[in-house]
Amino acid sequence: MSEKMDFNGACACGAINYQCSEEPLAMFNCHCGQCQLASGGTFVSAALVKESALRITSGKVKYFRSMGDAGRWTKRGFCEHCGTPMFAKGEIAPGLISIKPGTLHDKAVFKPTIDTWASSAPAWLHLDSGLPKAHKTPNLLNYKTNTKVS
Ligand SMILES: [Zn+2]
Ligand SMILES: [Zn+2]
Repeated sequence: MSEKMDFNGACACGAINYQCSEEPLAMFNCHCGQCQLASGGTFVSAALVKESALRITSGKVKYFRSMGDAGRWTKRGFCEHCGTPMFAKGEIAPGLISIKPGTLHDKAVFKPTIDTWASSAPAWLHLDSGLPKAHKTPNLLNYKTNTKVS
């Protein structure tokens, strides 16, 4: 069960706004080749949420579909006006969508719990030794962000 939580964000030009009504199921940094390309940088950070918890409150998200390093597709959502990468949906996780934390209004919402595809990270990148490292993409739901004991 996901905890209720409200957070929101927007792209750089403000055309796309979103709101999420549940706490992320997982938060991770992915170092795979496709994430390097899609970010145009070094890696992608992402907060995984249920698609049903995410509401696009303004604008229209454009999707580009690419083949991942593990041979499964990922659709990457961005703003067609300013190009901000915002979301990703993977064949590996139907019903889930990830949010890029640079688009959050409250940056403190994002706290990664794992580095995926860590072996593809460049040698100069300093990875947090306190986070587990996965060779590929494990079941991210095993690296839950909710650390509350119930
Ligand atoms: Zn935009
Ligand atoms: Zn990746």
